[in-house]
Amino acid sequence: MPADKISIGIIGGTGIYNEKDSKETKKIKVSTPYGSPSDLITIGKFNGKKIAFIPRHGSNHTIPPHKINFRANIMALKALGVEKLISLSAVGSLRENFKPGDIVLSDQFIDFTKQRIQTFYDGNRVCHISTAEPFCSELRRIAIDITKKLKFSFHENGTYCCIEGPRFSTRAESRFFRNFADVIGMTICPEVTLAREKEMCVLNISTVTDYDVWAKKPVSVEDIIKVMKENNEKIREILRNLIEAIPEKRHCECGKALENAFVD
Ligand SMILES: [Zn+2]
Repeated sequence: MPADKISIGIIGGTGIYNEKDSKETKKIKVSTPYGSPSDLITIGKFNGKKIAFIPRHGSNHTIPPHKINFRANIMALKALGVEKLISLSAVGSLRENFKPGDIVLSDQFIDFTKQRIQTFYDGNRVCHISTAEPFCSELRRIAIDITKKLKFSFHENGTYCCIEGPRFSTRAESRFFRNFADVIGMTICPEVTLAREKEMCVLNISTVTDYDVWAKKPVSVEDIIKVMKENNEKIREILRNLIEAIPEKRHCECGKALENAFVD
């Protein structure tokens, strides 16, 4: 593998990436057959390892969740050589014990999105990618160890319910979703599945900002901003450790996700 290959990609919220954390930062434009990614891609170096970062909603936070060009984001990272994707997201809590400020290393998702293109294979080849275990076991293990070591309040498992948005849930929907999921957000689907179709390892790190509407716990914008700021600090700390710990060579099955996925 060439020394300057970019093997780690990060897709996250605006403001999560701190350019002070990395060296030799530059921004590049990448075009794909699916259109443009959410923004210019930031290429940086963390402890000698090259990473590529895409702000999911654009650098000025102008792209709502249902308008994100997920295929372009994943395709652009793939074109740069990315094999491991760290997907960061802010979520609402569907459980009393998933508290604002907690970190959730999701191990499952349930997709309630309605109008997003779910696959790269919508032409003449039929692909049924397995998502029984949608996230990379190796990256999850590394992230669990790091988050434990940093002593952050976190959940090593969690089911992420992904809704279409941009509106929030009704109270009835929120109560319905809590029957089977722990946290709720609008962004990881179909990002995870598309990355699996490109045989990437995917890790989701979610941060809880507040309780979803089932809880009837009104929060002020001030409270949410405070929690989000603290969450961003924690994520940066985790990322610094994580990027260093991720091995160059993969020891998981993610790189074979397309084996047996095709009908023909
Ligand atoms: Zn993997």
